[in-house]
Amino acid sequence: MSKQRLLTGDTPTGRLHIGHYVGSIENRLALQNQYECYFLIANKHAFTTRADKPDEIRQSVIDVATDWLAVGIDPNVSTMFIQSEVPAIDELTFFFAMLIPFNRVMRNPTLAQEIKDKDLGDKYPFGFPLYAVGQCADILAFRPEIVPVGEDQLPHLELTREVARRFDQLYCSVNPHTEDKDYVKSGGLFPVIQPKLGRVKRLVGTGAPDAQGNLLKMSKSLNNAIFLSDDADTVQKKVMGMYTDPKRIRATDPGETDPEKNPLWAFHEIFNPDENWVREQKEAYAQGKVGDVAIKRRLVDVLNTLIEPIRNRRKQYESRPDDVLDALRLGTKRANEVAEETLALAKKAMKQDYFPRTLRIE
Ligand code: ATP
Ligand code: MG
Repeated sequence: MSKQRLLTGDTPTGRLHIGHYVGSIENRLALQNQYECYFLIANKHAFTTRADKPDEIRQSVIDVATDWLAVGIDPNVSTMFIQSEVPAIDELTFFFAMLIPFNRVMRNPTLAQEIKDKDLGDKYPFGFPLYAVGQCADILAFRPEIVPVGEDQLPHLELTREVARRFDQLYCSVNPHTEDKDYVKSGGLFPVIQPKLGRVKRLVGTGAPDAQGNLLKMSKSLNNAIFLSDDADTVQKKVMGMYTDPKRIRATDPGETDPEKNPLWAFHEIFNPDENWVREQKEAYAQGKVGDVAIKRRLVDVLNTLIEPIRNRRKQYESRPDDVLDALRLGTKRANEVAEETLALAKKAMKQDYFPRTLRIE
């Protein structure tokens, strides 16, 4: 029996951080052998906010792929590939764009949040909302069953589910009353995919909250991340300088321990395996019996213990950039085989299958 498929990906806007680790990577590693896995580097989506920085995007493509290998993605087991080298994705994007009302795309709360967080105002390019449609194609080109992501991606996945239903109903005669899980069984080309959230849905960053008092999501682009490739000193500097409780001047002041308000405790709860220590010290912190510095020092150790083996494996791949590119070449070839097949089937369903074609990656 063939395995079910899993797809997920990252935008090459920087290196991977500990939010990616708990939000999505843990799931990818756990499911790597159980599912046929596709991991996409969304380089075209990186152009939505940095079209003027092609060098940086190119470097980030290699960085993300290197991070994947460092965390333990096996390129011989899983297919890791570059989005822009899989043209079937673009072709599906165009067809899918006809199936979703424009206002529906603009109502996507993740886009609205990104516009706010990244301060895009009304200056964002046409391609910015288009990326939400493109992401439906990134996913559906592989007809996966599940998509492991962080919480911010759920609105995008809902759009993907809508596109799949609409396509299957319009072009594959699937009855609109069909249950989501039965779309393929009922003749649909595209499965109505299932999101799979990680152990942590949304890890906060190391910085201060926004004007409404909400801590921001840890993001590559918001200068609030601890990266899986940070060296031990950098981890220490970032933790020692991180935002905690601004009202706390002395260690004897009672401190804020709500992880929604103080990232120091969010991080301990998520990454520190010693639950008793966390419980006891949280109480002491709330009563003004322990200072920030001691709690931060412990966090430095906890994070370095997680990152150290990843860092070491990464060093080996950093010295072999050709191997990283070879892993992407191998994966991109495989990805094209599947995506071309999907596109051919989609065109057939849409009655636009005029001439067969083959595509080759050198
Ligand atoms: P950018 O700031 O450029 O948008 P990002 O840090 O949001 O970068 P993405 O490449 O957009 O990273 O996201 C890759 C995956 O990691 C997605 O599934 C996303 O939901 C997940 N993810 C990203 N940040 C977090 C976080 N802080 N907590 C949990 N999951 C996250
Ligand atoms: Mg993002």
